[in-house]
Amino acid sequence: MHREIAYTVRFPEAASHRVEVEARVPVRRGAGAPDGFLELMLPVWTPGSYLVREFARQIETLSAVTPDGAPLAVAKSRKNRWRVEAGGAAEVVVRYRLYAREMSVRTNFVDAGFALLNGAAAFLTRVDDGRPAAVPHRIRVEPAAGWPAVVSALPRAGGESAAATFLAADYDALVDGPIYAGDPDVRRFVVDGAEVELVSEGGRGVWDFARAARDVEAIVRAQAALWGGLPFARFVVLNLITEGAGGLEHAGSTVLMTSRWKAGTAKGWRDWLGLVSHELFHAWNGKRLRPAELGPFDYEAEVPMRSLWFVEGVTSYYDDLVLRRAGLSDDRQYLARLGETAERIETAPGRELQSLADASYDAWIKFYRRDENSANHTISYYGKGALVAWLLDARLRRATGGAKSLDDLLRLAWQRFPESGGYSPDDLVALAAELGGDDVGAWLRQAVEGTGGLDYATALDEFGLRFVEKPRGAGGAGTGDAAEGDAVDGGGNEPLDEDGEPGARAWVGVKTEMRDGRLIATEVRRGTPAFAAGVNADDELLAIDGYRLPPRGLAARLAAYRPEQAVELLVARRERLLRLPLVLAAEPPCPWHLEPDPDATPEQRARRAAWLAGG
Ligand SMILES: [Zn+2]
Repeated sequence: MHREIAYTVRFPEAASHRVEVEARVPVRRGAGAPDGFLELMLPVWTPGSYLVREFARQIETLSAVTPDGAPLAVAKSRKNRWRVEAGGAAEVVVRYRLYAREMSVRTNFVDAGFALLNGAAAFLTRVDDGRPAAVPHRIRVEPAAGWPAVVSALPRAGGESAAATFLAADYDALVDGPIYAGDPDVRRFVVDGAEVELVSEGGRGVWDFARAARDVEAIVRAQAALWGGLPFARFVVLNLITEGAGGLEHAGSTVLMTSRWKAGTAKGWRDWLGLVSHELFHAWNGKRLRPAELGPFDYEAEVPMRSLWFVEGVTSYYDDLVLRRAGLSDDRQYLARLGETAERIETAPGRELQSLADASYDAWIKFYRRDENSANHTISYYGKGALVAWLLDARLRRATGGAKSLDDLLRLAWQRFPESGGYSPDDLVALAAELGGDDVGAWLRQAVEGTGGLDYATALDEFGLRFVEKPRGAGGAGTGDAAEGDAVDGGGNEPLDEDGEPGARAWVGVKTEMRDGRLIATEVRRGTPAFAAGVNADDELLAIDGYRLPPRGLAARLAAYRPEQAVELLVARRERLLRLPLVLAAEPPCPWHLEPDPDATPEQRARRAAWLAGG
């Protein structure tokens, strides 16, 4: 049987980021088959990353021949499709060259050191009746010199020495099995009979591989305990220590990108462990337990989902909670992270406009296409989804006297919705009602479909916690703006009031960054003095009341002003100087610092301990 599609991948120009692919594609004959031609396609997006990325734009050359080497005519038939005039040939040999230099978890990257190939971005396939051909896809990878290892979660087919051959049961499996080739550090361990491989590219001399393997094993054990077992026999963590960022989930593996310097600080290490925990959690929530829309995939168009919040928000809630349960963080660290999430969501003006379900549905055109106005009209389904998961957890525990929790809901959903089908938004509400009663179901529907702030009272009371107001920069939760890496005004010198005590800071409320030595506004949120004064993104901030601002000195200059003071802000906009009257405000304090309530009852403390320890 030669009904499979067989690829050979070579790297003759690895140092210049090129991949050469040869695909032997059988021509379909008989009823329903096209007459004498072959249609090929490359996806426009890849599952887990909800943006049309047009992978076909990285194909530099493409040609086709018969098995005897006779050239065949090829023409583009869509932006991501090619039509090959096959004549009478039983098989067509397609050769194409890919450019691969995007350092991300969802595309291809190749240089002299290593290669990462993601199926949707690397392997074109035959189109049968509008879908990827339902045939096995065999991939032989011939690594470049100096690359002793080729790694994928795809099943191996053939034990050659230098080259590696993998066999994907169908195109979906190929897309779900990224391939790495290079010279990695490899650590293996076994949990509940499943082999886990931590495969790390880069980082030698800085990264602690042994500690990484120990901590990842603790995460796998904690998640196995939560779900009641592991859903795979083998799992590969492709840990690319390449100064990139992000992670992408797959059923039998994950691709992570991180900075080597995460290993140098306790917080950086927890960030990396949180990423591992997040992507591993998706092996259940997202890859197997999934919204009905998430498969079989239409690889050529957006696939919107109103339940994406459950995939990403619930996973975001558990990624850090699992670290706490595995002993990799403590209560204070965990609660601080949860408080930061609450602050980020509850201070974003977009919470009044966009529901969690709408944020999920519009991920393709909003979340994945963030711009200077995103905070004003969108909400993160990761952050708000995590908060709704926390509040749902508390409400289930409250309604059942601690007998049931969100852990139980996940395990029930896992049994109820097999991989082949998936769940609907109504299914999730029905599950919550089944476990916690109709009130909990109704609450969940409102939390997912409504806008505005969330009600934390039940969760705070259930677990004996409180939100404490702290001034910014005083060890409080910090601002979401700062977490995103840009400077915000405020947070500089502590102003003193007449008694010599710290007072409220004068505040403009504009997010800024330095560009070519200029202080540039990057985001203007609704409700701030800057918004009211008509400051625009990309304005250069030059002076207040006729006095030039020192470089990076907005916060320091504002310390000399009082809240409510009227000033004149001089900005440059498209090369023109403008004077904007602006009334300063008091910088809002951060009321979202989450901590244990010192007056918590023994019952509350016991419930908190059970929650944080996994009970
Ligand atoms: Zn995720």
